[in-house]
Amino acid sequence: MANKTQEAGGIHFPFPFTPYSIQKDFMAELYQVLEAGKIGIFESPTGTGKSLSLICGALSWLRDFEQKKRQEEARLLESETAPLNGGKAQPPFLSSSCHESPDTRRPAGEPDWVTQFVQKKEERDLVDRLKEEQSRRKKREERLQQIRHNAQLKYVAKCERQEEDETERLLRLSREVLAAGTGAEPLEQLASGEEELVLSEYESDEEKGAANGLGEDEDDLEEEHITKIYYCSRTHSQLAQFVHEVQKSPFGKDTRLVSLGSRQNLCVNEDVKNLGSMQLINDRCMEMQRSKHENKSRAEDEEKEPKRRRREPRTACPFYNYTRLQLLRDEVLVEVKDIEQLVTLGKEAGACPYYGSRFAIPAAQLVVLPYQMLLHAATRQAAGIRLQGQVVIIDEAHNLIDTITSIHSTDVSGSQLCQAHSQLFQYMERYRKRLKAKNLMYIKQILYLLEKFVTVLGGNIKQNPNTQSLSQTGTELKTINDFLFQSQIDNINLFKVQRYCEKSMVSRKLFGFTERYGAVLALPREQPRLAGFQHFLQSLQPGVTEAPAAPVEEGEARAPRPASPLMRVEGFLAALTTANQDGRVILSRQGSLSQSSLKFLLLNPAVPFAQVVKECRAVVIAGGTMQPVSDFREQLLACAGVDAERVVEFSCGHVIPPDNILPLVICSGPSNRQLEFTYLKRELPQMMDETGRVLCNLCNVVPGGVVCFFPSYEYQRQVHAHWDKTGLLARLAVRKKIFQEPKRASEVEQVLMDYSRCIKCCGQVGGVVTGALLLSVVGGKMSEGINFSDNLGRCVVVVGMPYPNIKSPELQEKVAYLDHTLPRSPGQLPPGKALVENLCMKAVNQSIGRAIRHQKDFASIVLLDQRYARPPILAKLPGWIRDRVEVKATFGPAFAALRKFHHEKSGLS
Ligand code: SF4
Repeated sequence: MANKTQEAGGIHFPFPFTPYSIQKDFMAELYQVLEAGKIGIFESPTGTGKSLSLICGALSWLRDFEQKKRQEEARLLESETAPLNGGKAQPPFLSSSCHESPDTRRPAGEPDWVTQFVQKKEERDLVDRLKEEQSRRKKREERLQQIRHNAQLKYVAKCERQEEDETERLLRLSREVLAAGTGAEPLEQLASGEEELVLSEYESDEEKGAANGLGEDEDDLEEEHITKIYYCSRTHSQLAQFVHEVQKSPFGKDTRLVSLGSRQNLCVNEDVKNLGSMQLINDRCMEMQRSKHENKSRAEDEEKEPKRRRREPRTACPFYNYTRLQLLRDEVLVEVKDIEQLVTLGKEAGACPYYGSRFAIPAAQLVVLPYQMLLHAATRQAAGIRLQGQVVIIDEAHNLIDTITSIHSTDVSGSQLCQAHSQLFQYMERYRKRLKAKNLMYIKQILYLLEKFVTVLGGNIKQNPNTQSLSQTGTELKTINDFLFQSQIDNINLFKVQRYCEKSMVSRKLFGFTERYGAVLALPREQPRLAGFQHFLQSLQPGVTEAPAAPVEEGEARAPRPASPLMRVEGFLAALTTANQDGRVILSRQGSLSQSSLKFLLLNPAVPFAQVVKECRAVVIAGGTMQPVSDFREQLLACAGVDAERVVEFSCGHVIPPDNILPLVICSGPSNRQLEFTYLKRELPQMMDETGRVLCNLCNVVPGGVVCFFPSYEYQRQVHAHWDKTGLLARLAVRKKIFQEPKRASEVEQVLMDYSRCIKCCGQVGGVVTGALLLSVVGGKMSEGINFSDNLGRCVVVVGMPYPNIKSPELQEKVAYLDHTLPRSPGQLPPGKALVENLCMKAVNQSIGRAIRHQKDFASIVLLDQRYARPPILAKLPGWIRDRVEVKATFGPAFAALRKFHHEKSGLS
């Protein structure tokens, strides 16, 4: 693949081959958006090389940005004594890393000599900072260069690692010998290792400065964050694909890229990784990091007070080692790697890739990460991501609004509330004497909250939630304030409780406690009251026998435990601190308390997104199908306070020749029945018959695969059953083998394999059966991320309009919220109604986007419902489909067009 430099809009874009003109336009527009610090909404259909355009466009901008910055720095350093910019604000290039920009506005009436003095000082400070930054950069570059060219260095590091391991082993041995020589420690109140379960003294932020979780070692690993691009996508496979594209691109050799992932993906400590669930792995790892710090300070204490009772050091993760992490960080930056390569490297280096990659963020130019890590403020902070002055690209963003909403919506079930209460209560009882007053106070507050949450659901915290049937059932939706008031907790400062939970890590302690003792402990004084509940807890935890449960032996095989229920409660408490108007609480009361739940629904996704757009230099939201764009503009950007002028839209056509696609809206079927699949009409047998006749006709003229999307699983099942009864299925089966979307996600792959094998086979053999028909569901398992290219999808049919269920309380609330908060433009639908229509059309666009996946692909797209012919609906189709769409009032001409299209195209293919 020869690398070529392309010029578009006067800018040089290295590209692996001659780009399509739409790719050139894409890159030029992207460059401008990043340069001007705008918010871009970019749409580029699948198969048009969107990833490559993003990579080459964005990295070309970064290349120029860095170059300009260096030139500017050099100029400033050269003229150290000359006034900077005539005393004006510093140049924009310097803004991201030298961000503590001096305030250039001086108070009115300040004497000239004072102004000059202050200016001079600022200039000197800036020059000092620049020098420092330059020297740091130089050192880093030298280090990376050394690693790149010096295999010897890696060998030395490996030897050092082995030596360290050996020293560690010897130290452990001598500790054991020492312990054996001095005899067993005198028994204290708490069993060995139990001390770690007790909450340490808690001071709120008002009482002390913000705790700095980093130790000295990590401080050394911290570097200045240079200007970079954060690229995020939905799934790990999409991220891996992107990294491979970077590797193949002209920027693959010299871009410092780091891939971020969860501990579940990156942990190399087998004992921890084998715990299975994300929550367990996170908890164990965090505990181990705390152990490391605590062991260190304990050792220091023991040094100071040698007579103090020696406590057994707790296990720290051997992969969390400063020297190795430092080396791994540098190796990560030397060469572009995906997650799998990172794990291999971590194993080789004996260093943790999860932390190694995080320490590589500051010096990286491109950081590749999943949505959750970027869009959730707490996760972002925990990962060490700083968005100030940076560029963010959010790819596959068609569902961005839903994603933000679901990341920030949370629920907790009745049984989780009861479990959390029981565990916390027992914890408090066991350690009551050792807990400081503040801890006790907050624990009691949390217990009170839990009790009130159960009460508001109509239950009783003291009884078994499985056997408690609720007198009132149904769903109730409340504003946050109403919920707090009804639960009688409006007098509690939830911000303080939330901060306590965060800082004290009470849920982790509780988790360790239940892990050690099982969920149930003997509480003689409470025995009669808890008897029924203990029984319930035992039923939940099959491994737990009679109380008191014996401490779980180290290494004993255990079934994976569910995540800590208090952690879920914490998530719910945090959500309740959202502003009243931006969220709702849904009380769902089912038959029993255990099945009932409290759910927080975020109504305004702009709240968490506002921070991203405010801090970043530029944000790009990109996808294959971004239509209808109005949701992004109104619900996300306008509500996040983004000026309409800061938003740039770019939509490019497809790379296929226009006649490779035939989009049709068909308004009536072969027997002239009008096609309108409203809730009222679609279940009529006549409608199902007419749909069947349309499909029979299509299957006669379309070669290969036909994918037919229904608006819901239930309707697909009804239609299938009806066709089976009337014999239509048998008629369809004459031309196409019929497949149905499976209910279970685990079966999807098998169905797809059988489907494609059948099409391939029919293509080779010839005969009456010409391919396969796949009955699928809009928004189902096959409507996103699955590629029906070439013969797998020669025709995509959408039956009816898949409007979301307007009866759902969540949607009703969201509609009401939008109608209330967004302005209504003249001649437009009310915002709530527009949302419902947009949700429907977004789902349709995703489904029809499954076909046509590359430049030589061709397919017909059939929209079966006369409502698609309405201009506002047509306007919501992607531009490259909309421009070609033909509305057919009757079936005859539609069928003729389809037959002609497939006849011609099949002849060519
Ligand atoms: S430090 Fe890394 S390797 Fe060790 S437990 Fe944590 S994630 Fe796993």
